[in-house]
Amino acid sequence: MTYRAGRHFLQIPGPTNVPDRVLRAMDMPTIDHRGPDFQAMAKRVLTGIRRVFKTTNPVVIYPGSGTGAWEAALVNTLSPGDLVLMYESGHFASLWKKLAERLGLRTEFIAGDWRHGADAAAIGERLKADAAHEIKAVCVVHNETSTGCVSPISDIRKAIDAAGHPALFLVDTISSLASIDYRHDEWGVDVTVAGSQKGLMLPPGLSFNALSDKAIAAQAGAKMPRSYWAWDEMLAMNPNGFFPSTPATNLLYGLDAALEMLDEEGLENVFARHQRHAAATRAAVEAWGLEVLCADPAQHSGALTAVLMPDGKGADALRKTILENFDMSLGAGLSKLADRIFRIGHLGDYNDLTLVGTLGGVEMGLKLAGVKHRSGGVDAAMAILAAAAPAEARQAA
Ligand code: PLP
Repeated sequence: MTYRAGRHFLQIPGPTNVPDRVLRAMDMPTIDHRGPDFQAMAKRVLTGIRRVFKTTNPVVIYPGSGTGAWEAALVNTLSPGDLVLMYESGHFASLWKKLAERLGLRTEFIAGDWRHGADAAAIGERLKADAAHEIKAVCVVHNETSTGCVSPISDIRKAIDAAGHPALFLVDTISSLASIDYRHDEWGVDVTVAGSQKGLMLPPGLSFNALSDKAIAAQAGAKMPRSYWAWDEMLAMNPNGFFPSTPATNLLYGLDAALEMLDEEGLENVFARHQRHAAATRAAVEAWGLEVLCADPAQHSGALTAVLMPDGKGADALRKTILENFDMSLGAGLSKLADRIFRIGHLGDYNDLTLVGTLGGVEMGLKLAGVKHRSGGVDAAMAILAAAAPAEARQAA
């Protein structure tokens, strides 16, 4: 491989760029995970992570990808053959459904058009019709990374309550945790699923389940086979700062540093930073004469923006042009959106100049690849950024 000067722009919607401070924190000797130094760090991290989920309940941390935490949420709370209601928000909701079926659960999908988040009213109607309470869990993806649409979790909670339905509520926040406002306790979520590689600014390799009392109680009746993903031993050992199997020691050092950084900036400021960058990105897309995939402005994601290609396809050729010329990776369209969209990640460790550089790369790429568009996207984004410059925004907060 030939050396390419300058920093690679990793602007996919996760994994995100890992800040130097996190890299430095991980660049340490791996210590005895049954010793006192590890114990002190693990206790700090297991407590600190609760603030990010906005919960006072335990958060289980696995060495594993987000997919593992999806599985953990299901096997700890359900029994073979249980019916699970899911909402087709996009590619990741579809993958979670496939995983549930492979585990031996029955699933029902409320159809979606991949341009909206989950529909709280439709979920509520389906639950009202389930007088026998056959549905045991409702599964929703908060930020659908394949589309850039956000599902209204609080409204879905209200719809479940209004239907008087006892189903558990399981939510995937893999691309929203620490990027978009999320409140595990306040929104009455039973299991929140998350991963390390997006808003938490870590490399891939850790995944999380935040629990409710109801989810913890559900273990007793849940008959799905489980061992590695079982919460019981984690919950027994974690309060002491230990884990039932070898934890990902160095990733936990990184998490310790990332939690410190999120605390220093303040979670609400992190959310506001991403919303501002999302608004500037949408202004650029509009100025280019292109269309944002997410069709409901109230559901636009702060974490990423998916952009439709003007002629319906050719997104992969555009991404290739941008990678080869400007050393920037953009997110691909997934499954039925393949080649039709490209996705701009603006989550994680990201500032105004990262955004201007990203959008500059896209605008130059559109021109080079011969994609029909108007110029002026970067200017439009800069106008949004200048209207509320970061130092002023910080003072106002
Ligand atoms: N859910 C969402 C919303 C995601 O964005 C992803 C990955 O990008 C996953 C689930 C799967 O997580 P992982 O690839 O870490 O297993």
